[in-house]
Amino acid sequence: MTQRKQIIAGNWKMNGTLSETANLINGLKQKIISSSLNREVVLCPPFTSLILANELIKDTPFKLGAQNVHFEAKGAYTGEVSAEMLKEAGCKYVIIGHSERRAYFQEDDAFINKKVKKTIATGLTVILCVGETLEEREKGITNQVVKAQLTGSLQNVSEKELENIIIAYEPVWAIGTGKTATPEQANEVHEYIRAVISGGYSAAAAERLIIQYGGSVKPDNAKELLSMPHIDGALVGGASLKADDFAGIVLA
Ligand code: PEP
Repeated sequence: MTQRKQIIAGNWKMNGTLSETANLINGLKQKIISSSLNREVVLCPPFTSLILANELIKDTPFKLGAQNVHFEAKGAYTGEVSAEMLKEAGCKYVIIGHSERRAYFQEDDAFINKKVKKTIATGLTVILCVGETLEEREKGITNQVVKAQLTGSLQNVSEKELENIIIAYEPVWAIGTGKTATPEQANEVHEYIRAVISGGYSAAAAERLIIQYGGSVKPDNAKELLSMPHIDGALVGGASLKADDFAGIVLA
């Protein structure tokens, strides 16, 4: 069986002035010592903090990620940022398809798919978010929803390209609500995601796939979640904004 790397990513969302960015990263540098680290750590501050964050994480094990990207390289797309620009700013990862972008900015799977393709072609790793709403879970269609998101977002993505994609399973009802999926609930969907990938690609691709869980991950629930066989890391929102909390999750 493949030993998958665990990756903990902090999605700062629209939080982090330059001084807050410096304080948070300096706090994390004190609490997370590289020699004791057996997980990859990714920080995803807002665009305006990327350059500073990239400077501050030099000589640390932390990697840089962005929270969004456009699918074109450049041009008349006011307010957008391209994958090339993110790469130049030091990013290695890009979060795509977060439920907040799906809900507030009407991003659908076809649009997300274009971003995924472009981001991989630029040499960055995608953190592709999928997950059901509370209503969908209560209707018993979680698997259906997740499968449709995966299939739509991964259109024309080859097995080779898939090696540069991490899936983040984020049940919408657990994001920022303090309600966490139980380790069993999360693991069950992760196992299903692996089955979908196995069916669409191969058993080896499914076995390699890193699947993070996201939704109110905190230091006190991280260890249990991260010990589940199909959970390979976490995408952390609120708790990534406090050095103590994020370090507590990274070191759980
Ligand atoms: C997120 O927004 O990706 C997230 C998981 O948020 P939180 O940890 O605050 O639930």
